[in-house]
Amino acid sequence: MVKTPWQRPVTDLPGVASQRSRQLEKLGISSWFDLLGWFPRSYEDWTTTLPIAALEDGKEQVFVAEVTRPYQLAYRGRLSTGRTVLRDPSRSVAAVWFNQPWLADKLAVGQTYRFRGLVKRQGRTFQVQNPAFEPVDLAARLPLRPLYRLTKGLSQQMLRRLITQVLDQTAGSLPEPLPAWLRRRYRLCAVDFAYSRIHLPQTENDLELARLRLGFEELFLLRAGLWLLRRQRQQRAKAPALRPGPAGAEKIAGFIRGLPFKLTSAQQRVWQEIRQDLSRDLPMSRLLQGDVGSGKTVVAALAMLHCALGGAQAVMMAPTAILARQHFLTLAKLLAGSGLEPALLTGATRAAKRKEILAGLASGELPLLVGTHALIEERVVFSRLGLAITDEQHRFGVGQRQRLGQKNDQEEAGLPHTLVMSATPIPRSLALVLYGDMDLSLLDEMPAGRSPVATYTATSQDRKRVEDLMGRFVREGRQVYVVCPLIEEQAELDLNSAVSTYNHLAQHVFPDLQVGLLHGALRQAQKDAVMDEFMAGKIQILVSTTVIEVGVDNPNAALMVVENAERFGLAQLHQLRGRIGRGAYKSVCVLISDAKDELARRRLRAICKASDGFAVAEEDLQLRGPGDFFGTRQHGLPELKIANLYRDLDLLAQVQEALSIIEQEDPDLQEPEHQRMAELIRERYPAVFAHLGL
Ligand code: ADP
Ligand code: MG
Repeated sequence: MVKTPWQRPVTDLPGVASQRSRQLEKLGISSWFDLLGWFPRSYEDWTTTLPIAALEDGKEQVFVAEVTRPYQLAYRGRLSTGRTVLRDPSRSVAAVWFNQPWLADKLAVGQTYRFRGLVKRQGRTFQVQNPAFEPVDLAARLPLRPLYRLTKGLSQQMLRRLITQVLDQTAGSLPEPLPAWLRRRYRLCAVDFAYSRIHLPQTENDLELARLRLGFEELFLLRAGLWLLRRQRQQRAKAPALRPGPAGAEKIAGFIRGLPFKLTSAQQRVWQEIRQDLSRDLPMSRLLQGDVGSGKTVVAALAMLHCALGGAQAVMMAPTAILARQHFLTLAKLLAGSGLEPALLTGATRAAKRKEILAGLASGELPLLVGTHALIEERVVFSRLGLAITDEQHRFGVGQRQRLGQKNDQEEAGLPHTLVMSATPIPRSLALVLYGDMDLSLLDEMPAGRSPVATYTATSQDRKRVEDLMGRFVREGRQVYVVCPLIEEQAELDLNSAVSTYNHLAQHVFPDLQVGLLHGALRQAQKDAVMDEFMAGKIQILVSTTVIEVGVDNPNAALMVVENAERFGLAQLHQLRGRIGRGAYKSVCVLISDAKDELARRRLRAICKASDGFAVAEEDLQLRGPGDFFGTRQHGLPELKIANLYRDLDLLAQVQEALSIIEQEDPDLQEPEHQRMAELIRERYPAVFAHLGL
């Protein structure tokens, strides 16, 4: 492939030697394109000038004035103060610069400059502090001054100079990734104009046009890249077509009849979607999204059963050993009588057992495996993997979704079907970008008979009443979670809080009850023992850190008390709260917090009100700002530089429309413009789309 000019290294620019390129490297800038993509974080207006007499106290303002006397330097120790007086026809004003002795040579008496600085009232007169200044005519060329994020040793001027050089040298030759029809349709400006005006805008309108175009481009290339990935996977790779046959189908129907509940219609719909995918020889790549408690596990079990009956192996991976073990037990129970037995592989599996399992997987004798994600990704080879399910893996990336495919021993076994399950509530529009290479199934219905968890806030002054409540739930035969926060940097301290909470409850408050303690520092066997006793109802009150956050399922647990609730994110509290309200019992969650600060109180009130995950996510966004709640980076996608996944929903809708036009009219990318687009996607995001052999 021909190297486009913007792929040239920064060292190809005059004045960029090793030191400067190291500084740029710190900002992640190594190519010309990186420089062009280093968008200003804001702009400074240098055109609106005021007469000195009209300057106001406490604001950054611009004025044109003459230097009336020599720069006067005074030192105190190593600190210096430089002073002069500036004058225009309306008035004069004192100017002061701290620790910039070199300005003595730059400010010529009798010369007129354009100044920009903070104006401060000093008694009855004004003073301008540390003003920046430049030749008067420069502002005509650079009315809106870009301000970049910097690093030590790099100045705004230096960056501006480098970027201007790249713009000059690439003018007219920047590759245009957006097809012409698309730019016409969505009224997007051309690539050269966009890059030059985002850095050096002449007017606000320029800036608006440039931002719109670059934001569209960013979302479009990313989205189109994910679409290409998926298309490629479907074209290149075969997956085993899993078709259990009449006897198998009868077994599956029997399995469904034998469930202790009736599948919700959402579960039935989603199961059909998955079943259809599995029976085709295109690798399935599907995201199963459903709020906590919506019943994803049984859908996964159905898919695994289908896969095994269709003659291939299936694996389910969970983020923690506790959850893996729980899934294993659930699955074993659900599948009892089907003649299929799952195996469990975690860090706690003993060496002999592990060897046996690995051999069984490699020979194909073992059809079903449950285990921790990391372990399986690293070590395990299958004879004929047909289906890989990932549960609650919020942080899986695009690359990871691809890697899962390479677990089969033999080439002809093909790619496994993949199913990813997540409770993270993401609006559909965003899911299209974050999971654009996958199909989406939504479990949008809760099993019948659930009532939302009643959630309240309390302070430590209410502790006695909260303990009474705990006693009451236990007397009624229910079980209780007490959750203490764990923050990694302070693991010691917080561990103590779980331990001391446990000691307090076990020794002083409920000496007659079984109180259990669960935290990350326990050995796996101890954790398993505690979990088993809790599941079996032998432990009535379980004090734990957030190790129970995801997935844990004990329908008899109906009360949760969260200590220091302000330390948790809202989404996390929602996940935690999802541990209760799983059975027919009226469930209560009490959030204990002594936080005084208003935002913290508002967030806690918000979660008391909102009962479904989408509403919670919405609230979180409102209160906290977007942050990285659904950040692209944690999904393994490149960080968005200019588009914003929350604000730019209109843009996203257009991007989606544009892509579906291409999908319909030129799915094989015959048009040269479309080929060019695909090529540039790989060039722009090499790390993400490396495997796109376009
Ligand atoms: P999640 O989607 O959070 O993983 P689970 O799969 O753990 O949810 O299911 C939550 C609880 O709901 C489990 O106890 C499960 O047995 C139960 N459950 C699942 N489907 C149904 C249903 N259709 N009707 C009643 N209970 C169900
Ligand atoms: Mg689950």
